[in-house]
Amino acid sequence: MNKRVVIVGASHAGAQLASSLRQEGWQGQILMIGEEPFAPYQRPPLSKEYLRGEKNADELLIRPAEMYIRHGVELLPGRCVRSVDRTAKRVLMEDGKSFDYHKLALCTGARVRQLEVPGADLPGVHYLRTLADVDAIRTRLVPGCRVVIVGGGYIGLESAAALRKCGVEVSVLEVQSRLLARVTAPQVSAFYQRIHAEAGVVIHTGWSVVAIEGEDRVTGVVGADGRRLPADMVIVGIGVIPNVELASQCGLKVDNGIWVDEFASTDDSDIYAAGDCTNHPNRLLGRRVRLESVPNAMEQAKSAAASICGRQQCYDAYPWFWSDQYDLKLQIAGLSEGYDRVILRGDADAGRSFVAWYVCGDKLLAADCINRPKEFMVAKQLLAGALPVSVERLADESLDPKLILKI
Ligand code: NAP
Repeated sequence: MNKRVVIVGASHAGAQLASSLRQEGWQGQILMIGEEPFAPYQRPPLSKEYLRGEKNADELLIRPAEMYIRHGVELLPGRCVRSVDRTAKRVLMEDGKSFDYHKLALCTGARVRQLEVPGADLPGVHYLRTLADVDAIRTRLVPGCRVVIVGGGYIGLESAAALRKCGVEVSVLEVQSRLLARVTAPQVSAFYQRIHAEAGVVIHTGWSVVAIEGEDRVTGVVGADGRRLPADMVIVGIGVIPNVELASQCGLKVDNGIWVDEFASTDDSDIYAAGDCTNHPNRLLGRRVRLESVPNAMEQAKSAAASICGRQQCYDAYPWFWSDQYDLKLQIAGLSEGYDRVILRGDADAGRSFVAWYVCGDKLLAADCINRPKEFMVAKQLLAGALPVSVERLADESLDPKLILKI
């Protein structure tokens, strides 16, 4: 029998899983099903080059469409899986069709969290997660139009930077008392607030939206204190929710993500999962995490492919992320939770380049490196080796970054 792997989800994790399966020597069929009507594409440029109109949709493809044909990967874009029958080992489609599987991989990703206030369904209120989302935004963008962004996370800030380049008036509303509050130290939040203000973005923190106003289209937003801001367009970036419904409906363990082991296996040995939708144990961090990042999706997908092919490849890399805003390249290594000190290398109050090291005792937990690629490499090595750090060396700008490693 020609065995088949069915991959549900055609984004970063799904695309990586399909190609890794062939690299691992999988000889059977590979069927990849995706809801969006496109071959897998890169999401990070959506809030950057694609929003600025500097890249077209073809340039976003993770792999050229013919690659899937060449590697015998059958791609079903624009199709939805309704349920999984684990006893029959079959996925059932919305259109009534079904596909049997030998192994199933759930790479279902995450969807945007919806803003639940009156008027949130008005035309002119947008989200930013898919190509279609950005196409819809771009058709309405004209220089001078007023865009209000709800959410001062990565989506909100990257979009703000891109839109300023398009000559648009931008305000950012963040419910927390500072930008990027969940993921960075106050010093890094203050830095980004300054950079965006210098670029002409108006930032309101501690601002909670209670309504969106407009008759046929959005005309403004209303805050909890009754303040009103005029808007020709609203872009909402208030986080994502993992797509775990298929997994929970078929009885797999789900708890803040589809529960997988370090080999990307669920509690059904014929079903694997990878990417934003999963919750995995990380040996280096010493706990379970659900990560929303491209490197996580790709590395975990490689483990899933190895497992499907009968080889064990533990996925326990330190998380890393990046964000491009204006001329600033932020590279983040590790997770900045549980630190007792933040040590700065460079001046966060002036200029455009510094590092925030997150330290607990003599151990580095994470580093935010802004236009500091050398320190980012050092941070990854410190984390991977769990090496003790010297606070003086971390902070000493006169020291070559490589020497930080020498204790
Ligand atoms: P996010 O990083 O979770 O940030 C959303 C921000 O909006 C949070 O600070 C959140 O505060 C705030 N917020 C929530 N409800 C709000 C409301 N009603 N009004 C105003 N602010 C509100 O999510 P995101 O920026 O939408 O990004 C979505 C996902 O894509 C994330 O996983 C993100 O990491 C990822 N992404 C990553 C990159 C990158 O790594 N470069 C770029 C883009 C997107 P609370 O924390 O209190 O909810």
